Amino acid sequence: MGARVIDGRRIAAEIRKQLAEEAKLLWEEHGVRPGLAAILVGSDPASEVYLRIKRKACEEASFEFRKYSLPENVGEEDVIELLQKLNGESSIHGIIVQLPLPPHLDENRIIASISPEKDVDGLHPVNMGRLLLGDEAITPCTPTGIITLLSKEGISLRGKHVVIINRSKIVGRPLMVMMTNRDATVTVCHSKTVNLTDHTRSADILVVAVGKPMFITEDMVKDGAVVVDVGINRVEGRIVGDVDFERVKEKASAITPVPGGVGPMTVAMLLKNVLDAAKKSLRREA
Ligand code: NAP
Repeated sequence: MGARVIDGRRIAAEIRKQLAEEAKLLWEEHGVRPGLAAILVGSDPASEVYLRIKRKACEEASFEFRKYSLPENVGEEDVIELLQKLNGESSIHGIIVQLPLPPHLDENRIIASISPEKDVDGLHPVNMGRLLLGDEAITPCTPTGIITLLSKEGISLRGKHVVIINRSKIVGRPLMVMMTNRDATVTVCHSKTVNLTDHTRSADILVVAVGKPMFITEDMVKDGAVVVDVGINRVEGRIVGDVDFERVKEKASAITPVPGGVGPMTVAMLLKNVLDAAKKSLRREA
């Protein structure tokens, strides 16, 4: 039979269209244009590509997008000074620092220097802490994209066993909390997990974000499971995920492709966070 292939690109395009309409209203009624500032340190080619995609999405929705490129050897205080300046700019509603940062910079300290209201990646300790307390104020874009994708596809999380292979702060940790908030039973796996296949085979919903092509094979997946592939790997000039898509597709009930699955949703959720931040800034001024 084969799984239903979840079209993240289509769902993300619909969301972005809706966000563009809301942004138009915000402009017409309040003269406010959502603004995103993105900081790039160094010239990592993958980061450059991601920022180009984010810029294009912002421009299509008539958001302002400003990129700040800083040299690879920039000092931590200089990055923090720029963030503090942007924290004070009323036309900028969201600020992101493109990760990863060079090793001499303290990622956590830099992210903590963004105003929590403008932290549209949802990685500031205040936003992470609120998430852990059950208050989903600004949530990280990739987990939010996954939750939205499943919800739009009518896949309920209540009572489901969700297995996440990833414990990073941008994917696994926030996703674990968001899934639990929606009544799923969550298992988080990582590189030290013993007998990984025992876990993956018991998953109703399997989320994979390892960064290794062909990592999930058909024998690791339960019949009828939903498989969400977050991985982005470049193989011979092509982008592939972490899942042996063609074989696993025959066993799963639904599966996200790479490209065209979670990736576009991540960008759509970033735009949503920027628009929400712009709306909230208006309410604070009122
Ligand atoms: P990361 O911090 O390197 O996380 C990788 C995770 O995989 C870690 O938790 C690691 O375990 C685990 N892992 C590695 N080898 C494993 C193994 N053999 N068995 C079980 N677990 C293993 O990377 P990340 O930033 O979270 O990103 C993960 C992947 O998702 C990358 O391919 C990235 O490009 C992609 N990504 C995609 C999007 C999107 O929008 N589609 C967004 C973000 C990331 P340890 O914690 O023990 O090291």
